[in-house]
Amino acid sequence: MDCLFCKIVNKELPSKVLYEDDKFVCFMDINPHTKGHCLVIPKEHAENFTALDNDTVGEFAKLVHRIAPQVAGMMKADAYNVGMNNGAAAGQVIGHVHWHIIPRYRNDGLEYWGINEEEVSKLDERFTELDGKIK
Ligand code: AMP
Ligand code: ZN
Repeated sequence: MDCLFCKIVNKELPSKVLYEDDKFVCFMDINPHTKGHCLVIPKEHAENFTALDNDTVGEFAKLVHRIAPQVAGMMKADAYNVGMNNGAAAGQVIGHVHWHIIPRYRNDGLEYWGINEEEVSKLDERFTELDGKIK
């Protein structure tokens, strides 16, 4: 399988690894949105969040919870975003699940979620499709 992030895991491609254990790697994003932007990935290939098993999600979230404040703290950031794009329409470009850690700085000018006012104004806030249907 030709996966860029699997190649990073296998050290077939260079990356700036910040943290690694037997199941996960954290490395610098090659095209950072802010200073300190890094990615956390499971070593085992999975396309997206949905494809992960529940136990792995738990470990993944705990790791990001541990790492993100450290990254933000070491970068002397004011805050941070953690975010994940799942599927092309959500902005996922690399098909190996990854959690972005994006340190934020007051007035850094980053528009993390661009909102299209016109599209948003057309939304019906009731979303009845969801009512009582989440298992
Ligand atoms: P996404 O749009 O959520 O799929 O994000 C993919 C991220 O991977 C982007 O922020 C890219 O800058 C980053 N990226 C792509 N190639 C590499 C690479 N070789 N090393 C590190 N980060 C990368
Ligand atoms: Zn992969």
